[in-house]
Amino acid sequence: MDLPGGTPGRLWIAGEWVEAESGATFEDRNPDDDSPYATVARGTPGDIRRAVAAARSAFQSYGQTLAKDREAWLMEAAHLMAARKPRFMDALFDEIGSPRKKAEFEFGKALSMLRAAAGMARQAAGKVMPSDHAGRLSISIRRPVGVVAAITPFNVPLIKGVRLTANPLALGNAVVLLPSEEAPVVALLLAELYADAGIPAGAFNVVTGYGHEIGDTLTGHPDVAMVTFTGSSRVGAHIQRICAAGNKRVTLELGGKSPLVVLADADLAKAVPAAVHGIFTYQGQVCMGNSRIYVERPVYASFVDNFKAAADRLGMGDLRNPDTVIGPIISRRQRDRVRSHIEDAVAKGATAVAGGDWVGNRCRPTVLTGVTEAMVCCREETFGPVAAVYPVKSYEEALAKANDTAFGLSAAIFTRNLDRALHFAQHVGAGMCHVNASALQDEPHVPFGGNGASGAGREGTEADIEAMTVLKWVTVNS
Ligand code: NAD
Repeated sequence: MDLPGGTPGRLWIAGEWVEAESGATFEDRNPDDDSPYATVARGTPGDIRRAVAAARSAFQSYGQTLAKDREAWLMEAAHLMAARKPRFMDALFDEIGSPRKKAEFEFGKALSMLRAAAGMARQAAGKVMPSDHAGRLSISIRRPVGVVAAITPFNVPLIKGVRLTANPLALGNAVVLLPSEEAPVVALLLAELYADAGIPAGAFNVVTGYGHEIGDTLTGHPDVAMVTFTGSSRVGAHIQRICAAGNKRVTLELGGKSPLVVLADADLAKAVPAAVHGIFTYQGQVCMGNSRIYVERPVYASFVDNFKAAADRLGMGDLRNPDTVIGPIISRRQRDRVRSHIEDAVAKGATAVAGGDWVGNRCRPTVLTGVTEAMVCCREETFGPVAAVYPVKSYEEALAKANDTAFGLSAAIFTRNLDRALHFAQHVGAGMCHVNASALQDEPHVPFGGNGASGAGREGTEADIEAMTVLKWVTVNS
């Protein structure tokens, strides 16, 4: 495969394509058939130190650049990205097994995030404040934090690759990106894009490799001022401890077990497709996936029948076919996890009314009923096309069940009762809540993020201006 910077894939450090210092590489595989997709540099702790040094050095000048210049570079990057859509789409198909609908969604969302990031550059404003002293002008100004480490997951490598790098760059920070080992090529395409758009050398760097080998060197590096991380709750908690010890800023977007509530007065013609979209998009490998569905008893049987029928109809063909919804699970480790969650539930008495079986590396969309506390999938994130549907006797029981979780990312409710909808929106313990829509939603400028095991801090243009700049108090005295 033809990679920017040459084959095998290299690291992007200080505006140059370089090999890993060890010369080592690793195989990036197409999850549909496990065939080799690309060979990519296996970065070492020494490569991380090189990238951080490059970013720190570039920050001396990049941190002083004008907002209008950063805006222009990011606008040019967005312009080039739109022109290079086929290349990005191919990587989303072949590197991470995205069906076309998901790849289209991801590309469109990432592009809008890049455009929104360009708009952030001019918005990093402070304010003028009253003063206790006569003749004093008291103001606050915002400065970039310095070097930001961006660490991204496999499932939305372009959305997160853009958001976690364009937002800090817009604000004058230098960035070192550590992408998932399952999605290094998307990150290399991004490096090429930023370079061609004119982002100065060293302001953006990419080190590919295995996170468990090089991640701690990055997050623990004294010259890294902030970590913006999206990934599993386990790795997120580990990073949070390192950041606390190093007194670093950190934003964590982690896993989920998002509830969808369907009340008896809901419009099932809308609730069922939303539930399908909310859990089966990208074969359930979505942090906001509504894997727990609580349905009021009067409509439970009808909901399950319709949900099962819709799940059975989902296309599992060629990833480039627009009708395909279910593609492969990313890796053997993740396949084992999905398989074990289903087998555990069925062995303990749950019924797979749809799916439960596999075609190659693809798990059929699976609808479970009769799930109990004894089953692993009741509480843990499966990260596959698996939904459990539970009957509930009342709205109050649905809310209590929705909140009985360590996670708190997104939540959704279908009802025509405005009082209940507003009560749910205020009392569900999730960072995001959607009424009469699925739990799977994102926009560039909204406060995006979760509570508890789902993370800390928020992403989004406004939230990132807070997170990725430092306020300085300045007085001018006469
Ligand atoms: P993961 O935690 O396995 O890996 C994420 C990233 O962490 C990768 O780049 C990996 O290289 C890196 N990493 C691994 N060990 C590290 C270490 N010690 N230090 C620093 N970095 C390290 O997650 P994944 O399997 O790639 O992604 C799936 C998870 O991400 C799911 O739990 C999903 O819910 C979550 N996710 C959350 C959001 C959100 O916005 N909340 C979005 C997408 C995915």
